[in-house]
Amino acid sequence: MGAVPEATLIFRQLFDPETSTYSYLLADARTREAVLIDPVREHLERDTTQLRELELRLVYTLETHVHADHVTASGLLRERLRSRIVVGAQTGVQNADLALAGGTGVRLGDHWIEARETPGHTSGCVTWVCAQAGLAFTGDALLIRGCGRTDFQQGDARRLFRSVREHIFTLPDETRLHPAHDYQGRMVTTVAEEKRFNPRLGLGRTEEQFLEIMGALKLAYPRHMDEAVPANLRSGLAPASAREPGPTVAALVAQAGRQDVELDFGLGI
Ligand code: FE
Repeated sequence: MGAVPEATLIFRQLFDPETSTYSYLLADARTREAVLIDPVREHLERDTTQLRELELRLVYTLETHVHADHVTASGLLRERLRSRIVVGAQTGVQNADLALAGGTGVRLGDHWIEARETPGHTSGCVTWVCAQAGLAFTGDALLIRGCGRTDFQQGDARRLFRSVREHIFTLPDETRLHPAHDYQGRMVTTVAEEKRFNPRLGLGRTEEQFLEIMGALKLAYPRHMDEAVPANLRSGLAPASAREPGPTVAALVAQAGRQDVELDFGLGI
């Protein structure tokens, strides 16, 4: 497959100041198909307006993980725009349309977005990689000069260390990394930068040092966790509508084409 010029991929970084969360809009400029990564429920109107103004059709919402600090807009976006909810295979989200294992992915026009499972912050974390555009969306697995906490949601510092070293730092050095949050106004980093300067996970650190650092963190219980996690396991929908069945596997295959979507039949559909 030849390299696709970056200009063919529309990219917008979106911000929720309340929780310092980044959402990302990616779209193929030719086919006008779009995905939203980690959409926030409070910004449903903003994001649907932007899609409409740019004349884009939302085909998927992609979650990097089950968030503890905000509620996803994925369920409401599916209701409104008929997009499909895509999560990692290990998230436990009840009403997702696709639960993708590592190495599978979704097609976005001329682009392929690969799921790389990067557990450790939570057991279901996924880093979404668009190799053709040199972009990766790391969620909370790797933050700019930091990483997500590992003290709840099946967090596991040893798994996180290995996920970052084996599945993020193995991307080309110039890959631009976009995290799910930044609390200091930074918006993007690169693999090379984090290898060199990340004080927790940089190449100068050993696994044992990382475990020590994470074990010594004294972090407050997240304010919205008790509301956000159960809601996100239902894609942000109320319990009644979350039980409504999504499209059947046969319908998804017919709609997407088997070559377009790697369906995981065991989970999430
Ligand atoms: Fe998180």
